[in-house]
Amino acid sequence: MGSLDALIEVQLLDTTADQLRHQRSTLAQLEVLTAATSARAEVAARAEVQRSRLHDLRREQKAFEDEAASVEQKAADIDRKLYDGSVVAHKELEAFQADHRALKARQSELEDRAIEVMEAAEPLEADLAELDQQLVDHDERIARLGAEVDTARAELDRHLAEVAEQRAVAVDGVPAEVVSAYEATRGRMGGIGAARLVGNRCEGCHLEIPSAQLEEVRHAPDDAVVTCPECGRILVR
Ligand SMILES: [Zn+2]
Repeated sequence: MGSLDALIEVQLLDTTADQLRHQRSTLAQLEVLTAATSARAEVAARAEVQRSRLHDLRREQKAFEDEAASVEQKAADIDRKLYDGSVVAHKELEAFQADHRALKARQSELEDRAIEVMEAAEPLEADLAELDQQLVDHDERIARLGAEVDTARAELDRHLAEVAEQRAVAVDGVPAEVVSAYEATRGRMGGIGAARLVGNRCEGCHLEIPSAQLEEVRHAPDDAVVTCPECGRILVR
C-alpha cells in the first residue's frame, strides 16, 4: 500500500470516528433521558409545594389540638372543684359552672377547627401521594434510560477504541509531514483532509479539476503531495 493509500485509510477511519463521536453525543436515548429528567424536576417542584402546604396544615391542626387539650384540662380542674366539696357558696358554684360551660364550648370549637384543618389536608395528602408515586415512576424510568445510554455509549466507545487502533496502524505508513498537512486541512475543511482523484474530479469537493492543472497533478512524482486546486485537500491519485 502506498503512503497515500494509507492516508485514505486514515481519512476513512477518522471519518468513522467522527461519526461515532457524533452518535455518542446525539444518542436518541440521551434526548429522552434529558426530557425525563426535566419532567421529574417539574413533578418534584409540585410535590415540594404540596408537602410544604401539608406541613403547615399539620402544624395548624396540632396547634388547635394542643389548645383544645389545654382547655379540656382547665375544664377538668374546675369540674374537680365543683364536686370535691371545696366550693359551697352558691354564687361561686354558679360562676364555676359558667366557666366550665364556656371552657367546654371553647374546647368543642377548637376540636371542630382541628377537624376542619385535617379535612382540608386530606385532598392535599392524596395529591402528594400521587405525586410521590409519579416521582418513583420517573426515577425508575430515568434509571432505565440511564442504563440504556451507558450501554449505547460503551458500545460506541468499544468501536471507537477499535478504530483508534486501526488508525494507529494506518498512520504509521504515512510520512509525518503528510500527516500534519492532512490534519491541518481536515481541521479547516469539515473533517475531510484527503480525497481521491477519480477521473478528473476531486472526491472531496466533487469539482472537476481544469485540464491544465490535472496534467500537473498526474505528472507529479508518486511521492509528491498534491492538493486539489479547488478545495486544497490532499489528492490521492
Ligand atoms: Zn477538491
